[in-house]
Amino acid sequence: MFTLDPETDALLVIDVQNDFCPGGRLSVPGGDEVVPLINRLAWLFPNVLVTQDWHPAGHHSFASQHEGAAPYDLARLPYGPQVLWPDHCVQGSWGAELHPGLDLPGAQLTLRKGFRRTVDSYSAFQEADRRTHTGLSGYLRDRGLTRVVLVGLATDFCVAWSAQDAREQGFGAAVIEDACRAIDLGGSLGAAWEAMAAAGVERVQSRDLLG
Ligand SMILES: [Zn+2]
Repeated sequence: MFTLDPETDALLVIDVQNDFCPGGRLSVPGGDEVVPLINRLAWLFPNVLVTQDWHPAGHHSFASQHEGAAPYDLARLPYGPQVLWPDHCVQGSWGAELHPGLDLPGAQLTLRKGFRRTVDSYSAFQEADRRTHTGLSGYLRDRGLTRVVLVGLATDFCVAWSAQDAREQGFGAAVIEDACRAIDLGGSLGAAWEAMAAAGVERVQSRDLLG
């Protein structure tokens, strides 16, 4: 059983945006299926924070910006390896909007990430150069929030990176597995769970919270 502390836990809803759902440009299989469950879970948390992938047009994580590259190719960018994606979550576009079924009236923060043209940011804490911080750690600390409980898209990229960075920054982290969906690119899902376990991320199911 998973014990929630409403004072110090925050639900961190990762990238539940149109482009990551069926019909979007970087569709995660079953991505929209998590929406009703996240809406239910959110009632348990006095503190709800939301992230949005938020790229300028021509972002360097887009395959379209690299000659001869196709989506899902692996490239080397100045900060390291980078999966190249279809154009997605372009600032101000329909695809970048949160899924319309998401009903989180109590959400307190919408944190946008990936807005620098040359650096991607799977993580809600720090960008892919591993140096540039988003400000989330400071926000959590200032508010006395000590653990994040993660849900959303995609398990093996933005959720996993955020959860591991939470641990690295000194926070507790738990991922609600059935409130996430994965891309699973070349075994990335299994590798992500291994890395999260090694980092001390708790793996829980929604029934552990909802009963
Ligand atoms: Zn992105």
